[in-house]
Amino acid sequence: MHQVVGQQVAKNGLINMWEGNHLPHAMLFLGADGTGGLPLALAFAQYIFCSNKENGASCSHCANCHKCSRLEHADLHVSFPAISPKSGTKALSRYYIQEFREFITQSPYGSTYDWLQFINAENKQGNIPAEECREIIDHLSLKSYEGGMKVQIIWRPEYLGKEGNILLKLIEEPPPSTLLILVAEETENMLPTILSRTQVIRLSPVAPADIAQGLADRNLADPRRAAQVAHIANGNFREALRLIRHTENDLFPELRRWFNALFTNNGIELSRFVDDWSKVGREQQKNFLQYVIQMLEHTLRARYLPQVAPALQEDEARFVMRLAAQPLTVEALEQIIEITTQISYHIERNAHGKTQLLALSIQVSRVIQGRKLVLH
Ligand SMILES: [Zn+2]
Repeated sequence: MHQVVGQQVAKNGLINMWEGNHLPHAMLFLGADGTGGLPLALAFAQYIFCSNKENGASCSHCANCHKCSRLEHADLHVSFPAISPKSGTKALSRYYIQEFREFITQSPYGSTYDWLQFINAENKQGNIPAEECREIIDHLSLKSYEGGMKVQIIWRPEYLGKEGNILLKLIEEPPPSTLLILVAEETENMLPTILSRTQVIRLSPVAPADIAQGLADRNLADPRRAAQVAHIANGNFREALRLIRHTENDLFPELRRWFNALFTNNGIELSRFVDDWSKVGREQQKNFLQYVIQMLEHTLRARYLPQVAPALQEDEARFVMRLAAQPLTVEALEQIIEITTQISYHIERNAHGKTQLLALSIQVSRVIQGRKLVLH
């Protein structure tokens, strides 16, 4: 299950249940977008089928592991939201299995929205129709091909609608050696009847250290950029992958450049900085401001606990310690965080980037120069 980022508690829980032979017949993996519900379900299925499990992990080399990783194992079934391929045809998962294999390989952390875009659903709503439920019941009633378990994954039972009731009996009393794994993001749109018949395995937001490790394992970023992105991804690994594509550059030199201009009250350099940053996209501006906030929070902590080195890259840590040593009051630091948060919010709400970044520079500069600032 090494391809699943973080989620150690859920992984351990699953392995313990498997090893202790008390795995429930129907489970619901419940976690927000980007926490890895689908990758975890697929990895756990592979673990179950692996013929060489060792220390709570699948071997990833045996024939079963190969078949699972390509979604070609005859006893592993996956259902997911789809659209009707042509009029008069139902949105069955098997029509899209080739595309789904490709999607899972390319974007294991992809969202349902990403998936529906992938099959060109455009603005059509995905759906798991009644016919799909009937097919699930049919193939689970057959004997397993390989003589072992049968695993059925339903990605996003929220898309079942009332049709889900067709599955109730199956979920309540599945045929022998059958495991059902439902992977949901929220329970609001799920049938309570289904919900009450599954054992919930909760996935937590992915910890920043795990996100950084996940990015490093995939060779997507050097440790510093991985750490920067990990802190602004909000526990969402899909978001971290997106940020890595959008945050091409190391943000630290820009942070240093901005603060140097602020502290030396260098108007020319400040307006150059604002010009440069008004040319990049809104997303990047927001990422930069989130990074600023994160570094200021480290600075506040360094004020209170000067003997504890910040958990940052060496030059970032040095910068934070230097900033903490400046004659700025705690209130001033908090004020800068508050202004930056406000401006980031305005930018998110489509306010004009250049005006906002200029206003931010002026306001922060005033706080640093010790002039009174009226927030409104
Ligand atoms: Zn294996």
